[in-house]
Amino acid sequence: MIPIKYGPIVDYALCSGCKLCYDACPMDVYGWNKEKKTPILLYPGECRLCGWCEMSCPNLAIHLELPLHARIDLGIHPELENLYEDPETS
Ligand code: SF4
Ligand code: SF4
Repeated sequence: MIPIKYGPIVDYALCSGCKLCYDACPMDVYGWNKEKKTPILLYPGECRLCGWCEMSCPNLAIHLELPLHARIDLGIHPELENLYEDPETS
């Protein structure tokens, strides 16, 4: 089985607990840890890759990892970038 790894990744070292990501997400991805005042990834499978949480975070604590098909659509998959390199000049 191929593991699926995409969605938001929170760097808790940068998180200030403002809760903007929790409020911004239109899906049920985030829960809230009241004691630590940090977001919890409750249902990452619900993520629709809209990017609102990443754009809402004032501390750049969230990185949205895009799935392979989205990276290919955007032309940012590193293996595809290598296909365009000229072997004679690289
Ligand atoms: S990318 Fe959108 S759907 Fe996914 S966790 Fe962030 S706000 Fe929610
Ligand atoms: S928006 Fe950023 S700083 Fe605010 S709670 Fe979410 S991860 Fe933490």
